Amino acid sequence: MNRKQVMIFATLLALAGVAGALALTFFVSWNLAVSAEEERLQLFSQLALDRSTMTFTSAAKALHKFEHLSVKPCSEDHIRHMRLVTVTTQNIEDIGYIPNGLLECTAGGPAPNHIKQYPVDFTLPDGVAVSVGVTPEFGGDQTMTSLYYKSHMVLIASGRFADVILEPDVQLAVLTSAGKLLGTLHDPDMETVNAIVRKGAGIQKKGTLFSVLRDSGLVAVAIEPRSKIIAQLRREQMMLLPLGLLSALLIVAAIVVLSRRRLSPLGELKIGIERREFVVHYQPIIELKTGMCVGAEALVRWQRPSGYMMAPDLFIPLAEDSGLIFAITDQVVDAVVRDMKNILVMNRRLHIAINLSARDIKSGRILTVLGKALHDTGIHPQQIWLEATERGFMDISAALGTITKARQLGYTVAIDDFGTGYSSLAYLQGLPLDALKIDKAFIDTIGTDALTSSVTPHIIDLAKTLELKIVAEGIETQAQADYLVMREVDYGQGWLFAKALPAPAFLDFYQKNIAARAET
Ligand code: C2E
Ligand code: CA
Ligand code: CA
Repeated sequence: MNRKQVMIFATLLALAGVAGALALTFFVSWNLAVSAEEERLQLFSQLALDRSTMTFTSAAKALHKFEHLSVKPCSEDHIRHMRLVTVTTQNIEDIGYIPNGLLECTAGGPAPNHIKQYPVDFTLPDGVAVSVGVTPEFGGDQTMTSLYYKSHMVLIASGRFADVILEPDVQLAVLTSAGKLLGTLHDPDMETVNAIVRKGAGIQKKGTLFSVLRDSGLVAVAIEPRSKIIAQLRREQMMLLPLGLLSALLIVAAIVVLSRRRLSPLGELKIGIERREFVVHYQPIIELKTGMCVGAEALVRWQRPSGYMMAPDLFIPLAEDSGLIFAITDQVVDAVVRDMKNILVMNRRLHIAINLSARDIKSGRILTVLGKALHDTGIHPQQIWLEATERGFMDISAALGTITKARQLGYTVAIDDFGTGYSSLAYLQGLPLDALKIDKAFIDTIGTDALTSSVTPHIIDLAKTLELKIVAEGIETQAQADYLVMREVDYGQGWLFAKALPAPAFLDFYQKNIAARAET
């Protein structure tokens, strides 16, 4: 992804993140609001049920008071008694004396002689019979419920069953389990109520929120308009919105951090390391006199997800400055072991040269890394060359420690890019080295009359004096190779022989090189 694509992607992601967080906030607060309202409605239904039960109980109690009363029916005493009970018992409108199903007198006095008992809808456990939805002549137009026990009856106004204090937009209905209406509050739509009672809590009634509660033969339904949720929703949102905004902010921050990481070279490098995107190519090292391949230099490349192979010059300096080079060196070592194990075990004269960074030399940790990586592989330490540049020798005492230990362990140590820094002869003499790599810059001057060309023979002589093996780098022409053979330089590497090759190509190169040697 290029910079622009990353920016667009990050922006879209951030927008999606914010929208997602807010949508989630809305969703959660909506659900909280709905369940808070449903809980409230549940409470109202419970209140209505309690109220109805209480009404039945007190009415039945009033009836039982006449059970053992021994006064003359419809006498003044009897009527007075009925009036007294009517006044002192909550919820009842009237009491009547109704032997044999025909009303004789009420608390108000003698009754007209044609009033019959209403059909019984159900009977309470204590034997009290109940008729629901009756409109007695003396009760005005009111719908009532009448209760009968032995020769007496009481009348209860329907409103009593749902007589609870409620907000005006909450509606209540109390019914018998057979669906007979006992009482309502705030005029609920009976069609809705009946549908709810029939189908239970499962139904969705558009625009309403409700609760149904059933207990001992009674059903209470509480209904309210769905719009009531909005108020509750506002309250929930007041609490949740800051949280939603905070998470949206966190999401945006995370995306900014991640995309910054994507956009900064260092961030990219970290991602590349995490994803192990580094591969190693191998440039053959040739014995100049014979043309035999004696080894290869491991050269790292960064294989970007796009397929592009990034050259080490473009990322090694950043890796060294930031310390990420350790992780890269580790991946190179792993790759070398993986790619070259078999061929190294089969060809003991073959070696692989690994480039070390200044930090690797200074810290000395590379020896631990190598020790672990080579363990049990069959590769001999002698088959691993370690290349260090002069920069690795800045901290001379640390470098000396690492090099000495490396050689004790059997590794071959070479000084790389020799002659390009400030390395002096004295400096070189103080270091226990095995090999010297002459930088391409000096090889380039061979056969030219450039001023530096006079330096090349000196470097070769110097190395010989110090009994170092010599590897000439960057040989591109046969003339350069011929000159180096003439000067008895041992080894060379360069495009004249081969470029750095992917592992399989190098293995192939090596097999062919061996075969060609065998023929001659
Ligand atoms: P170097 O160690 O001096 O590696 C030799 C470089 O010269 C390589 O470049 C190689 O491909 C190139 N080369 C070889 N023969 C010829 C030739 O005939 N003509 C020309 N023009 N170039 C030739 P490369 O692979 O791009 O590596 C560049 C530098 O990156 C290396 O220089 C080394 O300093 C560093 N490097 C490569 N791999 C690693 C590694 O694994 N770790 C560390 N720390 N540094 C590495
Ligand atoms: Ca090198
Ligand atoms: Ca070099």
